[in-house]
Amino acid sequence: MKRAVCLNGVLTPEADAKVSVFDRGFVFGDGVFETMRTYGGRVFAFREHVERLDASARAVGFSIGVSFADIERDVVYALREVHNAESVVRVFVTRGEGPLTLVPTNDVHPTRVVIVDELRPMPAAMYREGVSVVTDATQPAIPTAKCMSYLPHQLAVMRAHAMGAHEALLTDNAGRILEGATSNFFLVKGGELFTAPAERVLPGITRAHVLSIATRLGIAVHFSPVLRDDISGGPEAFLTSTMREIAPVVRVDGAVVGNGAPGPITRLLHAEFRKGVGLDSNAPPWL
Ligand code: PLP
Repeated sequence: MKRAVCLNGVLTPEADAKVSVFDRGFVFGDGVFETMRTYGGRVFAFREHVERLDASARAVGFSIGVSFADIERDVVYALREVHNAESVVRVFVTRGEGPLTLVPTNDVHPTRVVIVDELRPMPAAMYREGVSVVTDATQPAIPTAKCMSYLPHQLAVMRAHAMGAHEALLTDNAGRILEGATSNFFLVKGGELFTAPAERVLPGITRAHVLSIATRLGIAVHFSPVLRDDISGGPEAFLTSTMREIAPVVRVDGAVVGNGAPGPITRLLHAEFRKGVGLDSNAPPWL
């Protein structure tokens, strides 16, 4: 089996894994979620993901209602059911069933769903050649929380794909690049990193790991969003996310970044990241 579902703590056959039409997650997208992945069959950065899940729920005014150990048990149960080389683990917690009024009551019974699926690796070309991205003025309601109402992000990525780009870069009113619709964004300039401050973006788990690698390697980091025009002039840029790890960016709105190929600092950080998760540093995905 490649997929397994744990619904409110109970391993549930897919055909029976249903939630109520009165669930606020269905009705209003009123819930939070996390996407994690395994390396060597073990979930990477599990605690950091669950802490962010908990923080996201608090940011929208409810509690996930269970302990981190309960979620860990759900994930372990679901992972035991599958026979995947590696898996992607999605955790959703909604505010649960309630009246169909926009403002929820205080009587909250969250619905908790864990879905484990086979991890499909990103295409090697993404790492070898880098990706094109386009800027998009979408502004999520609460950028620091991973809320289920992801339609703005989804539409931004759909627009990007329609333009032949891999990802949308979300900009603020001044046109500064904050993050990707499903990733964090870094610019490398003068051997130093620039990324938007955590208060303005989803504080990515991969972003945090890249920041600690940079600190260890003595690479300075500036927490400030950059303008699209800052990208021209020979620097490197990359995206970070759980599913991509580190994806070199070689084009922004059609303008070539650097020499149009993945840059050396991007590669160095990616190689260090892969070492940190126990992958063979002699077999990077770009070779
Ligand atoms: N920013 C947004 C808006 C995201 O949706 C994601 C991941 O889905 C990220 C950043 C990257 O976060 P992580 O590295 O934890 O996957």
